[in-house]
Amino acid sequence: MSTLEIKGLTVSVETEDGPKEILRGVDLTVKSGETHAIMGPNGSGKSTLAYSIAGHPKYTVTGGTVTLDGEDVLAMSVDERARAGLFLAMQYPVEVPGVTVSNFLRTAKTAIDGEAPKLRTWVKDVKEAMGNLRMDPVFAERNVNEGFSGGEKKRHEILQMELLKPKVAILDETDSGLDVDALKIVSEGVNRAKDSSDLGVLLITHYTRILRYIKPDFVHVFVDGKVVEQGGPELADRLEDEGYDRYLAGASAAE
Ligand code: ADP
Ligand code: MG
Ligand code: MG
Repeated sequence: MSTLEIKGLTVSVETEDGPKEILRGVDLTVKSGETHAIMGPNGSGKSTLAYSIAGHPKYTVTGGTVTLDGEDVLAMSVDERARAGLFLAMQYPVEVPGVTVSNFLRTAKTAIDGEAPKLRTWVKDVKEAMGNLRMDPVFAERNVNEGFSGGEKKRHEILQMELLKPKVAILDETDSGLDVDALKIVSEGVNRAKDSSDLGVLLITHYTRILRYIKPDFVHVFVDGKVVEQGGPELADRLEDEGYDRYLAGASAAE
């Protein structure tokens, strides 16, 4: 049983005009086995939240706390965060030139577990996970993200998640750019990880489409750097019908 707890998180980025505050007091708690959808308009700070939890150097935490099972996540290096059990699937995954998927996965697994995985079970696990995600075995010998299509990048992210077995996974727009078939396969991967390891999921999305396949327990509406409303899955249905207009009108009226 794990708990990721975010309290009063404020984050700024450095811009040409000086620091700009993006997150303005985020409160959110994700426990093992729970799926939380964060939904909000473009530019509301959803990716900033994901990167801040992951420890991206471009984002400066100016206030608040993030803990995983009581441990101070913000005091950890990026590697330590991964070892502690946090996983981030990025909206724009980076290329890793000259490193094959196979080597990348084994290196990551070794770093996170503190020891190399047993070769025979590892090879079997990778094969099985790739099969589940309908990935061609030759994919393992390609360089990470080099020339990957949008769908291949997303599958590779989910492959990592299934093999690294994090406690809490943050999935940033994992649905973007996927056709329905790929979306189903990727969603099945997330659901398998939820079922097999009681994973906590923070699912960041702009559209409700992925929530047909990955059922959220909680939905948080994210506008202007903070959570402005929380509810159950029915909130996503309302967003599908009404969009974000009502929240945006509220946000500008309050300023
Ligand atoms: P979302 O993921 O919800 O679309 P982002 O977190 O990507 O939102 O961005 C939130 C806001 O922060 C946007 O206005 C964006 O332009 C700004 N922002 C994010 N990162 C940077 C950066 N590195 N430099 C300047 N502005 C940034
Ligand atoms: Mg965006
Ligand atoms: Mg984003």
